[in-house]
Amino acid sequence: MNASLSPVMHRVLDASLPLAEAGEGVWIADASGRRWLDASGGAAVSCLGHNHPRVLEAIRDQAGRLAYAHSGFFANAPSEALAEKLLARAPETFRGGAVLFLGSGSEAMEAAIKLARQYWLEVGEPGRDRFVARDMAYHGNTLGALALGGHPSRRAPYAPLLMDVARAPAAFAHRLARAGETETAYAARAAAGLQAALDANGPGRTAAFAAETVSGASLGAAPAPAGYFARIREICDADGALFIADEVMCGMGRCGTYFAFEQEGVAPDLIVIAKGLGAGFMPVSAVLVSGRVAGAMRAGSARLANGHTYMSHALACAGALAVLETIEAEDLLARVTPLGAHLDAALRDLLGEDRNVGDIRGRGLFRAVELVADRDTGAPFPASDGLADRVRAEGMAGGLICYPSPGAEWIEPDGTPARCGDHLLLAPA
Ligand code: PLP
Repeated sequence: MNASLSPVMHRVLDASLPLAEAGEGVWIADASGRRWLDASGGAAVSCLGHNHPRVLEAIRDQAGRLAYAHSGFFANAPSEALAEKLLARAPETFRGGAVLFLGSGSEAMEAAIKLARQYWLEVGEPGRDRFVARDMAYHGNTLGALALGGHPSRRAPYAPLLMDVARAPAAFAHRLARAGETETAYAARAAAGLQAALDANGPGRTAAFAAETVSGASLGAAPAPAGYFARIREICDADGALFIADEVMCGMGRCGTYFAFEQEGVAPDLIVIAKGLGAGFMPVSAVLVSGRVAGAMRAGSARLANGHTYMSHALACAGALAVLETIEAEDLLARVTPLGAHLDAALRDLLGEDRNVGDIRGRGLFRAVELVADRDTGAPFPASDGLADRVRAEGMAGGLICYPSPGAEWIEPDGTPARCGDHLLLAPA
């Protein structure tokens, strides 16, 4: 099929894509039977692989009874059960909390922004209308989420449409730690950048700070240095700002715990999850709202200001519930850390000496390989090379799906623009 004739608007408008016909485990096949190994679960989505029978059965069962009833008129059992399960997995501060179900990661980030804003209106602090997010972050493509994002070329076309967000530095030791700086010292310095951004907003002005717990497409499976998030939590508390953990990519067990922040010893105020929640079976995302925030909304206006037609979609929630039940029934969480260590060792064995591999990093089954022109200097290939796209194409030609992203960009303290190498994300089932 020639994509130039395709009525579907794909990401690439001048090339054709194979038609995916069937999925089985880690494989995707076209009609001719040609197969691709899905090493990244698409974009870190398919945490159970394709066509898991238990999830398919739950979806069939729910579809046979009720796919959708508008949430303004009805509750439904799958979303109630899923919310209960998710809150039971969340930190203690989420007792008495609530879960908002939506369709995509961007929608959920957008909702988190609005929930934070609504919270401050409910508690009588309307002056808190500013947000802080990090350089190089990726939080989605809708306008609010994109405004939180810190990737210059993704933002550029829409810059005039984006709200002004104060910037904190990324926590990316691989590129931003100074020579000889300890992990602890770097963590403290990176976290101090949040304080500076809050100060720039002014006292009592910041509604929330948003961060990916383990940076995904933005930095390539990059965990923060130890101690960073603990300090972030303290800084947010001292200012009063809420902390939004964007776990769209790194949550739902991908990093070895249900939520990646569990490994940081902190509890956010709002938790955003998406990809692994529906695991590709259903487009579904969620914002978990802490007891404090949900309680203030219930005691205040008792209305959600930000409703969507498909929120709490019964079929989508039934699929996600089955995903969660499968993770529990098959004890999959226990497998993530050892399998992740195995993958890491295999990658190092295979690529560790490659002159074009600048770094191999990640946590759990969330790994990235950074590609550079020169491993000694870390110099990336020029952005104009479009290396990420070329690697995707070569991978596909060879039967492999790994998720490529262009290298993160930032401005050095002396004002010069900098980039790190493009990376390939591996996020197997
Ligand atoms: N937040 C993070 C950390 C993501 O990685 C993504 C997508 O990759 C999003 C938000 C946006 O999710 P979606 O593409 O489902 O809108």
